[in-house]
Amino acid sequence: MLQNKKALFPLLFSLGFAASLSAPASAAVVASIKPLGFIAAAIADGVTPVEVLLPDGASEHDYALRPSDVKRLQGADLVVWVGPEMEAFISKTASAFPAQKNLELASLPAVKPLLITGAEEEDEHHDEAHEHHHHGQYNMHLWMSPEIARQSAVAIHQKLLELMPQSKDKLDANLEQFESELATSDAQIARQLAPVKGKGYFVFHDAYSYFEKHYGLTPLGHFTVNPEIQPGAQRLHQIRTQLVEQKATCVFAEPQFRPAVIDAVARGTQVRKGTLDPLGMGISLGKDSYVKFLSQLSSQYESCLKGA
Ligand SMILES: [Zn+2]
Repeated sequence: MLQNKKALFPLLFSLGFAASLSAPASAAVVASIKPLGFIAAAIADGVTPVEVLLPDGASEHDYALRPSDVKRLQGADLVVWVGPEMEAFISKTASAFPAQKNLELASLPAVKPLLITGAEEEDEHHDEAHEHHHHGQYNMHLWMSPEIARQSAVAIHQKLLELMPQSKDKLDANLEQFESELATSDAQIARQLAPVKGKGYFVFHDAYSYFEKHYGLTPLGHFTVNPEIQPGAQRLHQIRTQLVEQKATCVFAEPQFRPAVIDAVARGTQVRKGTLDPLGMGISLGKDSYVKFLSQLSSQYESCLKGA
């Protein structure tokens, strides 16, 4: 029986593929940002296509949907996103979605207890830029948490199972493989980062708390909560003081944000400059892309923090 199923699989898959060629060009799964697409691609591998809404280089905090994006969201079988407190630009379109196609990760019962509070409030209250949109109580960069990523994979698996019960065997196998690879990478990353625990550093924006907490890293702070908003003078002065006093080993920029402000604040100090990529810009969607993303992040931390 098991053997029959295995023999049938390539045939069913190729039939599905042929059918998809003649179908309208809309992805079955649309993820708001790349790291969520990484998780979805692992679960949907060989079952249904996955697309990412945000183009590389766009910010998860400020994006304006194009008419083609709205169509893509409306045409999807499943939309995976964090929720209105992160991708506010999706809220209006998502409000018209039937419940079965709307997967809002921050509101999942398995995820809610894992949320950690954000540093937002205290930061922006001192800034004149405070009229800018205000985030909620929690840090919403959920894709940085290996544990939330696992819960997200379980939820995506469940949703796809409801949509495509005929693909149960493949979906189950994909989830199992994702969980096992994630566990392996998690242990590897913990080993890789153990020697740099306790080293102080600053990150450009407040995106990394889940990862840092999970692996016991020790950030001194961030330049800004929203990368679109320039850090205030008071904050820059605080950071500069700590760099001069040699409390930090590194300051981290991001691939799409290399602001002069980081160079200015680090000028004349011994601090090293590194880059952290919170959205996995250079990584393409695939079965193993989420663990690649975590491993890349880990190496980015390590290479700057361990120093010469
Ligand atoms: Zn962010």
